[in-house]
Amino acid sequence: MKSTRIKMNPLIAANWKMNKGIKEADSFIKEFRGYFKANNKEVVICPPSTLLPYISGLIKNMGIKLGAQNMHFEDKGAFTGEISPLMVKDAGCEYVILGHSERRQHFNENDELINKKVKAALNHGLKPILCIGETLEQRESNITIKIIKSQLTECLKNINENEVRAIVVAYEPVWAIGTGKNATPEQAQEVHACIRKQLGELYGNAIASKIRIIYGGSVKPENSKELLSMKDINGALVGGASLDAKSFADICSSA
Ligand code: PEP
Repeated sequence: MKSTRIKMNPLIAANWKMNKGIKEADSFIKEFRGYFKANNKEVVICPPSTLLPYISGLIKNMGIKLGAQNMHFEDKGAFTGEISPLMVKDAGCEYVILGHSERRQHFNENDELINKKVKAALNHGLKPILCIGETLEQRESNITIKIIKSQLTECLKNINENEVRAIVVAYEPVWAIGTGKNATPEQAQEVHACIRKQLGELYGNAIASKIRIIYGGSVKPENSKELLSMKDINGALVGGASLDAKSFADICSSA
């Protein structure tokens, strides 16, 4: 069931995860440049941190933005292996993915820590792409909405009405990430509507209606158009399919 789209520029973000080096990044950008049309959408590439400054140089004047996949909440210090919000800014990023389910699962990140990172990102003028989503077990136990509301509320603790405008919420059902099994447009829309309602309860409907809520989980050229046509789906966070320039360009074109 389709309904009227909330008017805002869609955001399509590529999450390359732990993939690609300089040569692969070069050929991706070269190929993507040939396909990409910047009209009325925001496109963000989130490569591994080793590639951030390099890609920042490559995408100058292309109308594409840069994002990090994670960061620490402290500005600097003895945190071996981490990168700070200052470093992320310095590398040319406008966005940072926070709370990705792989961070929650493999690196024990919880809502409290993610909340600290969201605050740190905002304090440094970075726009967080805040990921939330239920596991298969939670969906099958019919607690999806409860989980989503709780993750959203905890991750946005002490974030005020002005700050929240810079945030993009990514609904990423864990069972759909990297599995090839996407949520149906109706399943995704149902959760996106609930996220918007919850944002309305926290910040008022006028603000909630302007916050982008993007979908992630096995988005590919074959399903992106339908997902992106849903009323409360304002973009996509793309993992696997963003590694291929043509696939990612096709997804961007469908927005
Ligand atoms: C992701 O990692 O954010 C993601 C959505 O991955 P995929 O598109 O591969 O499911």
